[in-house]
Amino acid sequence: MYLYNSATHKKEEFQTHTPGRVEMYTCGPTVYHFAHIGNLRSYIMEDVLEKFLRYEGYDVNRVMNITDVGHLTSDADEGEDKMLKGAKRENKTVMDIAKFYTDAFFADCEKLNIKVPEVVQPATGLIDEFITTVQGLLDKGFAYFAGGNVYFDTSKLASYHVFHNHEEDALDVGVREGVEEDSNKRNKNDFVLWFTKSKFEDQALKWDSPWGVGYPGWHIECSCISMKYNGEYLDLHCGGIDNAFPHHTNEIAQSEAYLGHEWCKQWFHVAHLNTNSGKMSKSKGEFLTVSLLEEKGYDPIVYRFFCLQSHYRKGLVFSWENLDNATVAFNKLLSRIAALKPGGEADKAVLAEYEEKFKTLVGNDLNTSMGVTALYDVLKAKTDDSTKLAILDSYDKVLSLSLLDKAAKVREEQAKAQTAQAAGGYTVTGEGDPAIDALVLARGEAKKAKNFAEADRIRDELKAMGVEVTDIPGGASWKRI
Ligand code: AMP
Ligand code: ZN
Repeated sequence: MYLYNSATHKKEEFQTHTPGRVEMYTCGPTVYHFAHIGNLRSYIMEDVLEKFLRYEGYDVNRVMNITDVGHLTSDADEGEDKMLKGAKRENKTVMDIAKFYTDAFFADCEKLNIKVPEVVQPATGLIDEFITTVQGLLDKGFAYFAGGNVYFDTSKLASYHVFHNHEEDALDVGVREGVEEDSNKRNKNDFVLWFTKSKFEDQALKWDSPWGVGYPGWHIECSCISMKYNGEYLDLHCGGIDNAFPHHTNEIAQSEAYLGHEWCKQWFHVAHLNTNSGKMSKSKGEFLTVSLLEEKGYDPIVYRFFCLQSHYRKGLVFSWENLDNATVAFNKLLSRIAALKPGGEADKAVLAEYEEKFKTLVGNDLNTSMGVTALYDVLKAKTDDSTKLAILDSYDKVLSLSLLDKAAKVREEQAKAQTAQAAGGYTVTGEGDPAIDALVLARGEAKKAKNFAEADRIRDELKAMGVEVTDIPGGASWKRI
């Protein structure tokens, strides 16, 4: 495949250190709050990338950290620990918060068909390794002790700005207004490897170390977790674009200084999901979650479909209107798949030909929108339904939209609706969403059975989903408002 590499700013042929095997690392969530759907955009695109590499025949070892210590309110390691902030907000312990939001993160992932990585490692579970690496960096002269903390000395590197599209000004990215520069630092970009002294003395989790009781900086966890589970040579490192600086830049600095050789060749960064009012952020207080989508009646997989329709390197604007459009398109796609007749043998030669086409399309810098378009090309193909279904099933190994399962459900709903219609002549017309059709039909049946309380309850449920029902002769019609 060809993949854009943000370290070289070029689209390059994907390569691995060991033929046929991909060592892949993903920066995991900071578990002090629910993931917002922006975070999940990054995880969806990384999931498709992993699945595509498997589709190409690679064996993938994917490793992810869980940040449960050390990520301060500013990415430039200043301020309060985010985990502690979350614990205070909810009057719980840091470990309770970490457990709750880690579970919530994986529950969201499951709803979005995001596979769990082979290795998931919370940062607090590997403190001894972090200490060994920090000591190694001190021994090699890449770190220094000042004011109670251990810092990485960026002036010791031949080159620090790996993702060199960052302007000097942008290097202040994580520094909040009102946060003073740390006067212990010898150079502006130096960063903390181990804290024992912070302005926030009430940091909950602390460990003994050669430099005193303290806790690790944020960046060291990803280097150590990757080196432990991916080995010395990482093939592919992923994250949202905001992680490129300072987080990934610092990961490279400390990993290469420690290892003494190049660490990771390929860097995959996902552009942000924004709303009309700007970047989504957990610290803004109110943010969009998978649960909110569900409360509003959306299938989380529609959000995945929405993400796949855009290229991962382009910013994506979220709006309810955009999600409505994705819902309509997805339901139409499902209805068309539901109209295919399952059962026969697939034509293996045609299947192989279409799989090759898909690899070429999606293999061009993970072009998922072409992958989605390819689904429609299959529906138009000059081949039998069984082969079409086999191709769609194959593409869905990468896209993970549960296409065949969902289409089977549509088929069932349609059969039920037809039976009900034959029995009572009750017709439902709407915007082509089988789940809503079924609810409107159920309301019609409740009315016929004079169960008006149930009929009203269903009407209210539909209203809460933004659907208005109008009774018409011989049935009902519905529309989204
Ligand atoms: P965090 O939980 O803050 O550590 O972030 C988890 C992941 O989400 C990281 O890879 C971030 O780069 C990514 N991320 C944060 N905000 C957004 C956004 N608005 N859109 C896409 N990805 C994001
Ligand atoms: Zn990381």
